[in-house]
Amino acid sequence: MAHADPSAEIPLCLVVTGGSVLLRSRKRERRVKAADFFVGALTTERQPDEIILALEWPRAPADTSHAFDEITQRHGDFAIAAAACQLKLDRCDRITALSLGLGGVESRPVAIDVSRFIGQPLPEILSALADHASASADPMEDHAASAEFRRSLAGTLVRRVVEKAHADARTRRELVQ
Ligand SMILES: Cc1cc2nc3c(=O)[nH]c(=O)nc-3n(C[C@H](O)[C@H](O)[C@H](O)COP(=O)(O)OP(=O)(O)OC[C@H]3O[C@@H](n4cnc5c(N)ncnc54)[C@H](O)[C@@H]3O)c2cc1C
Repeated sequence: MAHADPSAEIPLCLVVTGGSVLLRSRKRERRVKAADFFVGALTTERQPDEIILALEWPRAPADTSHAFDEITQRHGDFAIAAAACQLKLDRCDRITALSLGLGGVESRPVAIDVSRFIGQPLPEILSALADHASASADPMEDHAASAEFRRSLAGTLVRRVVEKAHADARTRRELVQ
């Protein structure tokens, strides 16, 4: 978290799960939402006299599904792009809660505004959701990938994580029936 590599997995997961960073200096302790903590590549809201004391991970309700995926040039390498998802569906596959984020695409992990998809039937809006994630990204360009390639990966990865979380939600539903 302190290092704030744009491609790192833990920062993206903390943003998507709505977690916080607990910071402490000699004089004070403060809490910053993970979504507000990252300023850009290798840069955070942490002041020079502060250390990260803890990461606070909210406990999701038991019927919440999660999924993560990333694309790397080599196994174990830094991600060119990553996506994470936290999802809750009702019995008719309508989205009751959704949190979605991208890592490695912009200079910091970002949450995507998906409010317009809440209440919608997931199978019917999956393509629109992936297109929305891809269109709303402001991808960076570097030695590993062009901005347009990252934009394309963003859509692909969002589709994959939402499909994975959907499959997980269906399995959970069958287990309790
Ligand atoms: C070959 C390779 C592959 C890697 N692949 C990945 C990958 O796929 N995904 C991924 O996420 N990471 C990856 N990493 C990054 C690796 O996880 C980093 O080492 C890590 O992000 C930084 O932690 P550190 O312990 O190495 O560094 P440190 O040097 O311990 O810390 C990094 C910075 O944070 C500061 N810091 C440490 N702790 C605190 C604290 N509590 N409060 C405030 N500041 C603090 C340090 O002063 C330093 O400036 C990879 C690294 C290598 C070398």
